[in-house]
Amino acid sequence: MTDSPVWHPFTQHGLQEPIPLVTHAEGAALHTADGRRIIDGISSWWVTTHGHGNPRIMQAIADQTRRLDQIIFAGWTHQPAEDLARGLLEIMPPELTRVFFSDSGSTSVEVALKMALGYWHAQETRRNRIIVLEHSYHGDTIGAMSVGARGVFNQAYDALLFDVVTVPFPAPGREQGTLDALERACADDAAAFIVEPLVLGAGGMLFYPPEILARMHEICRRHETIFIADEVMTGWGRTGTLLACEQAGIVPDILCLSKGLTGGAIPLAVTMASEPIYQAHYSTDRARMFFHSSSYTANPIACAAGNANLAIWREEPVRERIAGLGERQQAGLDLLADTPGIVNTRRCGTILACEIGDGSGYMNAAAPSLLAFFRDRDLLLRPLGNTVYVMPPFCIGDDDLGLLHRAIAEAASLGT
Ligand SMILES: *Cc1c(COP(=O)(O)O)cnc(C)c1O
Repeated sequence: MTDSPVWHPFTQHGLQEPIPLVTHAEGAALHTADGRRIIDGISSWWVTTHGHGNPRIMQAIADQTRRLDQIIFAGWTHQPAEDLARGLLEIMPPELTRVFFSDSGSTSVEVALKMALGYWHAQETRRNRIIVLEHSYHGDTIGAMSVGARGVFNQAYDALLFDVVTVPFPAPGREQGTLDALERACADDAAAFIVEPLVLGAGGMLFYPPEILARMHEICRRHETIFIADEVMTGWGRTGTLLACEQAGIVPDILCLSKGLTGGAIPLAVTMASEPIYQAHYSTDRARMFFHSSSYTANPIACAAGNANLAIWREEPVRERIAGLGERQQAGLDLLADTPGIVNTRRCGTILACEIGDGSGYMNAAAPSLLAFFRDRDLLLRPLGNTVYVMPPFCIGDDDLGLLHRAIAEAASLGT
């Protein structure tokens, strides 16, 4: 494949690493052109919830292709989008009354930030500062990078990134520092706080407890700082509940959803807003409309997949599946917790994570060899530095899950 013109994301082509060609997939298994069956331990980058090729989602897509492929969404509408918006209102917290469509997690974040600033633009007192949590990841467009952690991934673009106020991650024993910093930042007329609830994904699968999320929300509410929950990864059951926010008993002012919105089958995102955010843009003045769109906003085929996902959540025992996967991940965790060389074993709902080695720079340099180790065993696991995590589709079988857990233990025993 070295002569391919394809430029892959987050891939250093100069390292000439093999790039497998996947021909088909079902459930938690990927099949390659050279006949291998790969276990998808990361839900194809966190998107696949019910499994690859889910028959109901595939059927909904096929049916929709016979009716309407694409239509401008400014000033026009279609049934799949109407159904999806109403369906989301039914399943999501009732305070979130408006649904704005876009195409990816990053764009759902851009939309959320623009909504928040649009809200303040319509008020007597303008606010424009955004507060973020240390180690956050919200996507790779310029605005999403601006509110995410700065590092090697965005150094080259630093000049374009806007300033934000960063509060420290609430690591165990340091929670009060987080809350105090947030309190200070909110008191300084911040427009919005954007946060990944309970789990910071790309920042290293860092977990923090629902109590802290609830207290952060309370601080924002007291200062009228708009609370934006980026549930692009945590949503759709990953943390054990439909939304991670549920565990803290909170409802954000703005909610970002993507990845599992279509069961991971096709790109789609929504930014859900509470009524005051919408009303700040509602007017007879055209200059106050919400100025955002992309060509494929609310693509009907993607919306049909979203509706099939909602039907699966309504009609199938998805919550039981998630609870069951959580228990099975716990069994793996117990195995890994006893394995020398593995530290910080942790689980949040269906997500299992740990570090191999002590987290030193040297161990981080071992990440590519970890990746190769798993690849050689036909396992799709993609460590973040020396953080290894398992976030499979909910339908993964016991044998496949066991292989993932045992491979992590083996990788640690070889590395120490
Ligand atoms: C993946 C992710 C995004 C970005 O989503 P894309 O669809 O890749 O643009 C944003 N926020 C969080 C928390 C994510 O995990």
